[in-house]
Amino acid sequence: MMSPFIVILSTGSELTAGRSLDTNSGWIANQLFELGWKVKKFITLPDDPNLILSELQSLQTLAKEKPVLAIMTGGLGPTEDDYTLESVLKLTGKKSYSVEKAKLRLTKIYESRGKEYKDILPNVFRQTFVPEGCKTLDNSVGIAVGFVESIGEKSYLVCMPGVPSEMTEMFKRRLVPELKKLYPRENLLQKTKWLWNIGESLFQNDFIEPNRTEFFHEAEWGVTANRGYIKCIFQSTNQNLLDQIINRLETQYPKIISDDVFINVHDRLLADKLTISVVESCTGGLLGKKLTEQPGSSSYFMGGFLTYSNEMKSNLLGIPIETINTYGAVSEEVAKAMVDGLCQKTGTHYGVSITGIAGPDGGSEGKPVGTVCIGIKEPNGETTVHRYVFPGNREAIRENASNTAIFLIYQSLKNRVI
Ligand code: AMP
Ligand code: MG
Repeated sequence: MMSPFIVILSTGSELTAGRSLDTNSGWIANQLFELGWKVKKFITLPDDPNLILSELQSLQTLAKEKPVLAIMTGGLGPTEDDYTLESVLKLTGKKSYSVEKAKLRLTKIYESRGKEYKDILPNVFRQTFVPEGCKTLDNSVGIAVGFVESIGEKSYLVCMPGVPSEMTEMFKRRLVPELKKLYPRENLLQKTKWLWNIGESLFQNDFIEPNRTEFFHEAEWGVTANRGYIKCIFQSTNQNLLDQIINRLETQYPKIISDDVFINVHDRLLADKLTISVVESCTGGLLGKKLTEQPGSSSYFMGGFLTYSNEMKSNLLGIPIETINTYGAVSEEVAKAMVDGLCQKTGTHYGVSITGIAGPDGGSEGKPVGTVCIGIKEPNGETTVHRYVFPGNREAIRENASNTAIFLIYQSLKNRVI
């Protein structure tokens, strides 16, 4: 079936005033890309009922020419500046009704806070209303009910709450199955690989261009850049072709390729019953945060030290102050001493140390801002130290350093001979 013309519509005066960032549109577009759909347009509107209605009318008119899928977020809340339902009712001439399941959920939420049904304020109650005859999308995080309304032949308007945690749950659990029913298509296969410390343009030059005629007539590709790595996504209905692309990628980039390191390191440490501890300086705890993001991380993550000052490095880890003075706090020698000292205290299978210059000050000729040393102590007792100069500002350098440390653990786990 032909793909619909997809428009993402974000509403909220906080967005058009620049007080809040519209993160919903990009997130939705990315999810749709993974499903094989490309978005044609982003629209952002303030909470203005006239503007919203006229935009919806334009979409309805467009739907007379071709299938349109409009995905709208925001304006389903309890406050008086929430106009989505009202606008859709005006557009379709329909009436609304209160969804029984949502009413019950709202009552339960109130009861859990020691309140009764009669205490529910009318404007809070309003969030349980949807247009008659629409397809409802349950909200398992908040109260506002989402819905899918027909706006023409094979054309739909999807309305979801603006709160990102509510919208993302609703999108994945309720909307995606619905979209697959509304727009059935051949099953699209997808493979994702991460490449470390390589830019998007270099990747395009070195991989996409030389392989364009061979691979990319029947496959789509996309790249998203992150701190330290790019995520390369390949899609096709041809499994064999996808396998060939991944093979070529692995042959071309054997040292810098990975799967999702955050999930993979979690799974491997759990499966192999290995433990890990960290000692951080310039990342200020970021690595510990990232290693504890997955539920169940307490099985392998034992803890760590945050040794920002030289004194703490010396006192807590037993590094002689002379070593720090001789080589500098950001040096291979200190990174090694940090991770050795750490593992003496914690006794974990893996140890990781990070010391670096996050900037903007503190750089020098031999050690510019972005210089980071990462020490890895392996389960066999060996320690390796890696030195990098990461680009970008303070935030980028800290993110890059902690992501790269996890990539180094990923590589060690992958190459481990048991
Ligand atoms: P609403 O559903 O319009 O009541 O939105 C509730 C809250 O969700 C707003 O106050 C914003 O903080 C957040 N929000 C709404 N739209 C967006 C968006 N497009 N991106 C990120 N956050 C949003
Ligand atoms: Mg709003």
